Amino acid sequence: MSPSVKTCAICKKEIPADPKRRPGPFCSETCRTIDLGHWAEGSYCVPVVELDQDLTGTNGSHDLN
Ligand SMILES: [Zn+2]
Repeated sequence: MSPSVKTCAICKKEIPADPKRRPGPFCSETCRTIDLGHWAEGSYCVPVVELDQDLTGTNGSHDLN
């Protein structure tokens, strides 16, 4: 295992040691974008608010009058 060889976090390809390449666990801008997409999807995981209970309760009591 050579510490100088890194693998892409997305496609698992070897990232060649290149001083001009910006640091990061990705082999290319494409894989970097894919990883950012994964994070964006996770942040949009908003819990759904259930309104069924409130609706049935209001309708039921109103009908009795
Ligand atoms: Zn990659």
